[in-house]
Amino acid sequence: MSDYEFDLFVIGAGSGGVRAARVSASHGARVAVAEEYKVGGTCVIRGCVPKKLLVYGAHFAEDLKDARRFGWDVPADCRFDWPTLRDNVIAEVTRLEGLYTQTLDNNKVTIIHERATIEGPHEVRLAGGRRITARTILVATGAWPALPDAPGVEHGITSNEVFHLETMPKRWVIFGGGYIANEFAGIFHEFACDVTMVLRGDQILRGYDEQIRDRLLQISTAKGIHFRFNAPLEKIEKQADGSLLVHVGSGDPIATDAVLFATGRAPKIDGLGLEKAGVEIERGAIKVDANNRTNVESIYAVGDVTNRVQLTPVAIREGQAFADTVFGGNPRTVDYDNIPAAVFSHPPIGAVGMTEAEARNKLGSVKIYTSDFRPMKNVLAGRNERSLYKLVCDGDSGKVVGIHMISPDAPEILQAAAIAVKAGLTKADFDATVALHPSMAEELVLMR
Ligand code: NDP
Repeated sequence: MSDYEFDLFVIGAGSGGVRAARVSASHGARVAVAEEYKVGGTCVIRGCVPKKLLVYGAHFAEDLKDARRFGWDVPADCRFDWPTLRDNVIAEVTRLEGLYTQTLDNNKVTIIHERATIEGPHEVRLAGGRRITARTILVATGAWPALPDAPGVEHGITSNEVFHLETMPKRWVIFGGGYIANEFAGIFHEFACDVTMVLRGDQILRGYDEQIRDRLLQISTAKGIHFRFNAPLEKIEKQADGSLLVHVGSGDPIATDAVLFATGRAPKIDGLGLEKAGVEIERGAIKVDANNRTNVESIYAVGDVTNRVQLTPVAIREGQAFADTVFGGNPRTVDYDNIPAAVFSHPPIGAVGMTEAEARNKLGSVKIYTSDFRPMKNVLAGRNERSLYKLVCDGDSGKVVGIHMISPDAPEILQAAAIAVKAGLTKADFDATVALHPSMAEELVLMR
């Protein structure tokens, strides 16, 4: 019998923490998890899940319009009611939170609804004062929105608050040009809000393939989303009528009803007691080795708090690998190569592997295949919105080293195509596959 109260104490019940806790318990460990807010973490409570539901909700704006061209009698005064969508999404999130809690309960994981801080290599202290010992501590506290430093930032909100808005503001200014900024620009625009995206630099979605980024920018601009580039925030002033005046580094100030900051997320390490335990921090994140272990032998970390790849499925894999390695007698590490990713913009983007620029830098010769097409549904709907698929291939071996797509359903199609890239298949393998007709996905095997 161990001298510790628990074999594993997990701080944070998000995607990585829940997976680690559940699997460790199934391997026979006595596990406790502390969560100061809701079980499920960013993804389930205030991230991927409610965001995707808003994306679905928002897309009806286009679908209802298009439906008329397909013979449906959609009334002209078709109205969107934000509180209905908001409340239904919150109810779904609450249901999922219940399921996550149930899963932990079923695996006999003790859930402690309190903030926990680290006191030493084998000890944590709960907000209420209780001290708990554990053989192993896992930090899975995730990340938190990082805001620019300027007067008046307190007048803006982040993705933490956006799902609970009392009313839907008519005018939005969104800071940032990454995932959250583009996704919410699309959502708000579909809700008929006036949207201005403000970027400190001159490009959206840094890291994505240039042609795909350009296409999203072009489509977003054509839809009526405004962009301000090279425009760092100077200050936000609240006006007498409650509206906001946003001053940025270039051009006139922007009058708006609300500001959303989507300027990145920083690992949540403040006040965790990491210094006390001697845990090493590198560039604001917990430093871990390939086995998710910190420099302190009994303390591990997974997910966004380590700032490796800030994606839910990656945190889940890290949590699983941790549990199998430490408690399952099955050491394993996460493979970070060719992780597929998506931006749920309107239309969405899916990508895996190298961009064209990366491939040109890394490989001797590169061959690019593109398909630039108007989906048949858009043609009949009279929607002048084109899709773009792109295969990046090694010029010598023909291996497909990257796939980049912007198109309706791109993330759904990309997940399957990512298997081919992960498996190292070649352009010839794609060509040898018979097209599935009529589909958008068939473009993947028809590029010549
Ligand atoms: P991103 O890292 O995607 O984008 C951050 C954006 O904010 C960039 O455009 C960046 O500009 C800009 N920025 C950073 N600091 C400042 C600053 N001080 N002032 C002005 N602009 C600034 O972060 P998000 O917040 O959109 O999302 C956080 C993370 O969450 C993502 O990295 C992603 O991993 C994850 N996520 C994933 C989603 C998905 O998988 N679909 C959806 C939502 C989030 P620059 O390019 O100049 O650095």
